[in-house]
Amino acid sequence: MITGKTKLLGVIGYPIEHSLSPVMHNAAIARLGVDYVYLPFSIHPKDLKSAVNGFAAIGLQGFSITIPHKQAILPLLSEVTDVATAVGAVNTVWRTEAGWSGTNTDVEGFLAPLRELERDWSEAVAVILGNGGASRAVVAGCHQLGCAEIHVVGRDGEKLEEFLKSWMNSPLGINLKVHTWKNLPELLPNANLLVNTTPVGMAPQVERSPLSPAEVDLLSTHLIAYDLIYTPNPTLFLKQAKEKGAIALDGLEMLVQQGAAALRIWLQQDVPVDVMRRSLQEYLGLPFSLSAIG
Ligand code: NAP
Repeated sequence: MITGKTKLLGVIGYPIEHSLSPVMHNAAIARLGVDYVYLPFSIHPKDLKSAVNGFAAIGLQGFSITIPHKQAILPLLSEVTDVATAVGAVNTVWRTEAGWSGTNTDVEGFLAPLRELERDWSEAVAVILGNGGASRAVVAGCHQLGCAEIHVVGRDGEKLEEFLKSWMNSPLGINLKVHTWKNLPELLPNANLLVNTTPVGMAPQVERSPLSPAEVDLLSTHLIAYDLIYTPNPTLFLKQAKEKGAIALDGLEMLVQQGAAALRIWLQQDVPVDVMRRSLQEYLGLPFSLSAIG
């Protein structure tokens, strides 16, 4: 029940109608029985600063950030974690005495299903398809895992060079190589972890895969294939990789786990990840499963 004592959390974006965060956060809040509510806020980019000041004025406890505010929020924060600085984007903000603090829980969300596999990553070769926003969290995640090599594959040489440069002074000290798509066939046979961070294969274009049939043939049998896309589930890319014997991880778990990490920050307590996962599976009409590992 919402009362005069109920504390406010929320998510900002523009548009915000498609955000799945209110579904999973309010499901967790209900299960925990804590006196909070999590609301969607549609904030036009020109109103970001006044909205954030307004959130302080109304005593909002914290908020999630989605497109297009993940970078623009940075100058409005009094403190930013090293991981968010390195990724160049903030997705979770909370109140402190000094103002708003921010971090990026996408990295933790990405890592959660990989950590469940309990592998030794020190000799692992990671190949990341795409060099947009999500790719940055994946690069930071592969670095945190301790991968021996991190390769990023993109379609635009100039953007790839900029991507590479942006990591050079990173507080995380990340070492990576960038490649255009034509080099992918050389990278695939040695890849232990292959991550799709492009939107290729996302609904409604469910018949598309970021890999050509010839590239699928180059996948090794000891591969972990990870698609950040969560609808459809599984994607064609994951189906192809599974047919080659790979372990397949879908994007739903990253979504759930980045949300769980944010809720832990706000509530300072453990949160029911299974309830969050199940609420999204139900909302998206996906079959129930206890984890993302397929
Ligand atoms: P983004 O910033 O727009 O980056 C997309 C990247 O994919 C860019 O490098 C883009 O290349 C590349 N790309 C787009 N179309 C392509 C194509 N036809 N062929 C090859 N490369 C292509 O998007 P984002 O925010 O990183 O999101 C990417 C995907 O990850 C989306 O599907 C999103 O839903 C998913 N995602 C999932 C989670 C999760 O929690 N599971 C979190 C974040 C994102 P150019 O730069 O050359 O255009």
